[in-house]
Amino acid sequence: MDKNGNKSQDLILFGPPGAGKGTQSELLCERLGLFHLSTGDILREAITKGTETGKLAKQYTDSGRLVPDEIVVKIVEEKVGGVGGNGGVLFDGFPRTLPQAMNLDEVLERGGRHIKWVISILVDDDKIISRLEGRRMCRQCNRIYHVATNPPAKEGICDVCGGELFQRNDDRREVIQERLKTYYAQTQPVLDHYRKKNLLKEVDGAKDPQELSRQILAIIA
Ligand code: AMP
Repeated sequence: MDKNGNKSQDLILFGPPGAGKGTQSELLCERLGLFHLSTGDILREAITKGTETGKLAKQYTDSGRLVPDEIVVKIVEEKVGGVGGNGGVLFDGFPRTLPQAMNLDEVLERGGRHIKWVISILVDDDKIISRLEGRRMCRQCNRIYHVATNPPAKEGICDVCGGELFQRNDDRREVIQERLKTYYAQTQPVLDHYRKKNLLKEVDGAKDPQELSRQILAIIA
C-alpha cells in the first residue's frame, strides 16, 4: 500500500519497438516483484501453440500491424483479473491505442487498482533499427540478447535456461519500418492521455540498461 492508501503499484512501460521495454521489464520485475504483463509475449505464445487467437494474431504481428483491440483487451482483462489485489502489475506493450488505454482505466478502476506511473522510454529511429535487427530472443524464457551488444556465452543458446535463441519474424527490416509507422500513428497519441493525468515520466533509452533501470527505480521510489 502506498502513502495515499492505494493498493496497487501498477506501472506502464511505454516506448517504440526496440526501446528496451522487455529488458527493463525483466530488471524491474526481478527487483520489485511485479507481475510482468507483456501482450507481445502472450500473443507470441498463442501463435506458437497455434490457438485460434494465435492464428488470428499472426496475420497482424508478421506484418507489423496491431492486433485488433477487442482481442488484446480480452487477454489483458483475464490476466489482470488473476493478479492478487496487492501485487503490482507492470504493463509492457499495452496499451497501444487510445481505446486500449480507456479500457485499461476501466478494468483497473473496477479492481480497485490504479496506474502509478507511465514510464516513456525515448529512443531515435536509427538506434531502434540496429537494436531490433540484431535482437535475439529465447524461445523458452523470452530473455533478450543482441548479437553485437549483448551476446549469449554460447551462440544461439540462452545463458539462463539453455533454450534456443531465435530472431523474431517481425524483427526483419521491412517489418520494423511498418512497426515504427504503426507506433507513431496509433500508439504515440496514447501518451497525451497519460500526460493529461500527470502520470507521464520520460527517460532516455540510449542509456546502458542497468543505468536506465536505476533511473526508473528512482522515479518509482
Ligand atoms: P511486442 O513484443 O510488444 O513488440 O509486440 C509484438 C507484436 O504483437 C506487435 O507488433 C503487435 O502486432 C502485437 N501486439 C503486442 N501488443 C499489442 C497491443 N497492445 N495491441 C495490439 N497489438 C499488440
